[in-house]
Amino acid sequence: MKKLSPMLVTAGALMGLAATAQAAPTVTRLTPPSEMFASGRPDPVIARFLPGQRFDLQATIKPDAGQRISAARFFIDGQAVDAAVALRDCASGCVKGVSAETAIATVRAVSLEKAGRHEFSIEATQADGQKVTARGNLEVVPFTAAMGPKVKNIIILLGDGMGAAQRTAARIVKGGYAQGKVIAPLAMDTFPATALVKTASLNSVVTDSSPGMTAYVSGNKNNNNEEGVFPDDTVDAFDNPRIEYLSEYLHRTQGKALGIVTTADVFDATPAGNAVHTSNRGAGTGIVDQFFDDRSRTGLTVLLGGGRKWFLPAGTPGSERAEGNDYAFSATDPHTAEIVKRWGAAPGAKDKDRDLIQAFQSAGYRYAPTRTALQAATDGAGADKLLGLFAFSNMNVALDKIDGRRGAAKGITGTVVDDYGFPDQPMLDEMARAALSTLKKQPKGFVLMIEGASIDKQAHNMDTERWMLDTLEFDRAVQVAQEFARENGDTLVIVTADHECSGAALIGGSMLTDQALQEAAQKKGVAHLRDKVVGVYEKAGFPRYRIAADGYPEATDIDYRLLVGYGANADRYEDWRTNTTPLRDSQQPLAKSEPLKWYPPVPMERDDAFGEYLVTGQVPGESAVHTATDIPLSAFGPGALAFTGVIDNTDVFFKLAQAAVKGTTAPADATGAKRPAKATAR
Ligand SMILES: [Zn+2]
Repeated sequence: MKKLSPMLVTAGALMGLAATAQAAPTVTRLTPPSEMFASGRPDPVIARFLPGQRFDLQATIKPDAGQRISAARFFIDGQAVDAAVALRDCASGCVKGVSAETAIATVRAVSLEKAGRHEFSIEATQADGQKVTARGNLEVVPFTAAMGPKVKNIIILLGDGMGAAQRTAARIVKGGYAQGKVIAPLAMDTFPATALVKTASLNSVVTDSSPGMTAYVSGNKNNNNEEGVFPDDTVDAFDNPRIEYLSEYLHRTQGKALGIVTTADVFDATPAGNAVHTSNRGAGTGIVDQFFDDRSRTGLTVLLGGGRKWFLPAGTPGSERAEGNDYAFSATDPHTAEIVKRWGAAPGAKDKDRDLIQAFQSAGYRYAPTRTALQAATDGAGADKLLGLFAFSNMNVALDKIDGRRGAAKGITGTVVDDYGFPDQPMLDEMARAALSTLKKQPKGFVLMIEGASIDKQAHNMDTERWMLDTLEFDRAVQVAQEFARENGDTLVIVTADHECSGAALIGGSMLTDQALQEAAQKKGVAHLRDKVVGVYEKAGFPRYRIAADGYPEATDIDYRLLVGYGANADRYEDWRTNTTPLRDSQQPLAKSEPLKWYPPVPMERDDAFGEYLVTGQVPGESAVHTATDIPLSAFGPGALAFTGVIDNTDVFFKLAQAAVKGTTAPADATGAKRPAKATAR
């Protein structure tokens, strides 16, 4: 096909935007997303891929009234794409406002080797012979000449919702300061390189965790709530145009394994955003099924976290498996059949009665339902593949797990973890250690994602002590990864966040002892709980938490405690003291039964009892929210110094892939060493 004239391009783009009842077929959506298609401008290029990385091409075409689209062809750089075009109409389910005769044309799993910008286009033909064209651009990011060897392993530590304030708070709690100098830095503070990361998603300056994670492991922006896919116009949550993940790419091309570790339910956005392709981050049954069904494509070898409710057959106590959030690809409809054929993806099945734990076990995964079982799974030779599900939904947070352990050691029961029914849950660093001991047996190396999930969840709840301790728990996992990288030398570690949460601000240290704070709470109100607590800068001093042998503060209700305010908060009552229980987690299947039903459902009810100091919020509802603020990323190991400057979250993908595929382009540290120095005895 000859090159389209610029005139045609502009006209096509404008028609695409207008999408009104014109007397001509119009392309209303072209995928991959392109600013050239959206506005006619060639910059910025939105979609970028590695050489050979797979992605889908798709167009939504609206025909004239009474007409239908009879054929469609895709072109890249003027060459017809050599793969079947699946053509379906919207009679069988599209989003509101898209008419039944609208056509969706898709080519699955294409890739390009040649670096640089490419133009792609669609030419669609209506039954009466009228044609419509539209075009966009994309970029293939080349690998560059390496200065160091390839890294064998990649560890991505993702502190969900962890902005600069969350990091600083954890540092103050962990080590404290002596005359302004840090006594014991966080592990992540010792990483030699740090960048500032821009976090916007495809459709919003404020991202949620799905596109926040997938940007790092696909190189592309996704819409909020979407994972590993570009947006489309169908209502099927699993049929969207796909983007190949880092795990899939490195498994397909290099045989690397994948590990996923989280303190959340494993179906949650961040863990799923490493291996699962869906436009609905809430589609639990289908998401966990895809983890298993596509394990030969992703190399999934370790999966640790909560979320047992999705693995138990429907009808089993605690199970929430349902057909309504499962997936099955039609073998007769080319639109989904081509996903199976071209991607090699599993067809799926509506199988709410499936015993997915049994399925994992039959496939050779050692199953650990408790911390004790997890430790046993790494004894001796240890498991080759590992599934650990330590709670029905999200695991309990560090503060409550530690409280349960300290209680159990003293013979005390009835703590939060007992109420949840899972008294023997591992900490994140213990999960990280188990994952690494399993994955290190992989001869070709691995990609491991470790998420500290409740830094975000507890910041949403404005539960200061709970997110501070979860950040500490996360940093202890960072230390495990760092030690592994020091020992092995061929492992690149990054620690970052998907976005900031709650607009947390460290507003200083309390002017009161904890005893005086309790008395102020009895006197109630702003005059006592704000004006007597928050002072001038000098009064803040240096809050001094004492760390117990288990690595966590002996007490969080200390004298002259750290004070945290929120800038993206809902209304809440503040008494500055640690909440005895977390908020009720509505994702728990048994949240409406005793004892969980007695847990406070929202911050306003939780804190109402004390103080009557109401802090009014900027956002409606009951929860603090994510912010659009840049977040820090720190890197350790070979190639670490490639992670500097102000970068886009999608840039991270290309830096990681470069190090794994072609070799590092920067030293490990400022001395110029290609590998991190092994730790000296401390
Ligand atoms: Zn969040």
